[in-house]
Amino acid sequence: MKTANDTTSAIPSDFIRNIIAEDLKTNKTRGRVVTRFPPEPNGYLHIGHAKSICLNFGIAAENGGICNLRFDDTNPIKEEVEYVESIKEDVRWLGFDWGDRLFYASDYFEQLYQYAVQLVKSGKAYVCDLSADEIRRYRGTLTEPGKDSPYRSRSVEENLDLFERMRSGEFEDGSRVLRAKIDMASGNLNMRDPVIYRILLAEHHRTGDKWCIYPMYDFAHCLSDSIERITHSICTLEFEDHRPLYDWFLDELNADCHPRQVEFARLNLSYTVTSKRKLAHLVEQGHVTGWDDPRMPTLSGLRRRGYTPESIRKFAERIGVAKKDSIVDIALLEHCIREDLNERATRVMGVLRPLRVVIDNYPEDRMEELEAINNPEDPGMGTRKVPFSRVLYIERDDFREEPPKKFFRLAPGREVRLRYAYFITCLEVVKDQQTGEVVELHCTYDPETRGGWSPDGRKVKATLHWVSAAHSLKAEVRMYDHLFTKTNPSDEKDGADFNAYLNQNSLETLNSCCVEPSLAGAAPASRYQFERLGYFCVDSVDSSDEALVFNRTVTLRDTWAKIEKAQMRRTIADGSS
Ligand code: ATP
Ligand code: MG
Repeated sequence: MKTANDTTSAIPSDFIRNIIAEDLKTNKTRGRVVTRFPPEPNGYLHIGHAKSICLNFGIAAENGGICNLRFDDTNPIKEEVEYVESIKEDVRWLGFDWGDRLFYASDYFEQLYQYAVQLVKSGKAYVCDLSADEIRRYRGTLTEPGKDSPYRSRSVEENLDLFERMRSGEFEDGSRVLRAKIDMASGNLNMRDPVIYRILLAEHHRTGDKWCIYPMYDFAHCLSDSIERITHSICTLEFEDHRPLYDWFLDELNADCHPRQVEFARLNLSYTVTSKRKLAHLVEQGHVTGWDDPRMPTLSGLRRRGYTPESIRKFAERIGVAKKDSIVDIALLEHCIREDLNERATRVMGVLRPLRVVIDNYPEDRMEELEAINNPEDPGMGTRKVPFSRVLYIERDDFREEPPKKFFRLAPGREVRLRYAYFITCLEVVKDQQTGEVVELHCTYDPETRGGWSPDGRKVKATLHWVSAAHSLKAEVRMYDHLFTKTNPSDEKDGADFNAYLNQNSLETLNSCCVEPSLAGAAPASRYQFERLGYFCVDSVDSSDEALVFNRTVTLRDTWAKIEKAQMRRTIADGSS
């Protein structure tokens, strides 16, 4: 199988790739490039993680290197096997292969413990009995230095003894910690004697009750990197201030492999939150149906929505990597899936809000099969037959009794084309006596226009999609909108929190849609373009042969293309290039 690991063609360079090229040139890593993707299994992966996955696996592949998948499972309280499994599935689905290099930080617990003992022995770590609150108070602030803990000067022997007893479960949760002895006056708060081990009497999903002390991220991460002989530890910007600590541990322990930490800006996406904590909250509060709700920016949500791995990799490539935080327009992500599905999705006709149309001059007992093109972008995808008969459905929106200016679709007395079929003219409008709602149109068709072209060169201004009432299949279609109403829902001003910006109309379910019969038995997760409406995907959870359910992946309107065009015009107008 060709995986994305092989797709190394023409990825534009960036500052991280430049650093690696330079390190290779100066032979810093003896020709090796080893990266890792280190998720904490405390939630499902989201689109931000996809950026990191593409970067780490991509860079390794481009340089003939390798990329490990490592679970950073050092916090047993928030971590679950379900998350581990979903993460593996998502990375594989994105197209990446970690081969036999699936690792867990918990595999290194014994080794990490020994490293900690080594720090204690060299007088670089001590057991501290201050409470979490006291530690915080002693730490000082950005403008004030911290205060030494009264336990800082414990002897090596006492520290060794206490640390061992911490391990053997003698002390209560939170009663003691092991701290690095660095500098309580450091300008960098991370260097003010950070905690490296804490007591947590909790069951771990892999090590069970073997451990009751767990290493902190900063300690476990650099050492796990070193154990795996990572060359470049690529992480997000918030770890920039942790880099001195990353290096301190490795230096103090004389690690023979000292990876280079490189930070990049995390992905933020408009109208979206990309924090596992916030996504978990949406799931727990029932604002969405689960981590894989098609509105979620999780990889499982995007997959269920109809996104392809190719489109997400393309997106990751197009946003690039930078050293400065920004918000990427979600329209770019949508542009990428549109571009991909335009090339590969079969076109079909489906009517979301049906309006009955009777072709008065078409024989009642007749049905003919008209030829329709499966994908104009790809003639190789061939054609299919679509049944046409006397009673059809068209889209309610495609008819107006009193058409406003510039409305060129169907109206009384007006002729339009039915795609792949005939020209029809609307003669009569039937309304509900009580409500006045239009319930049916009577039209005539011109038999000379079969296939949708008039031999006399007559022109019509609109082409409508349609289905034959008797032959169509009923379907449910779920129309999605952004989960949030605000460009940056994480910008929680004026005491509001991101919940306040939830879009109450992010899901509209249409229950009486009609789709052409070629969709009978459509496979779960298969993707189609409903002509004129957008791209849709068969829901992999709720759809069945008896009851088809589609998710709208994305509309056809490409706002990103517009943005790009406008930028281009501006650039040309500026005279710059
Ligand atoms: P969250 O804030 O959602 O909990 P996290 O950083 O805690 O994210 P991890 O599981 O620790 O999640 O992340 C695994 C890797 O993915 C890390 O290297 C992290 O830097 C990277 N990552 C997480 N979120 C993003 C993002 N929005 N953009 C780019 N990379 C990200
Ligand atoms: Mg994290």
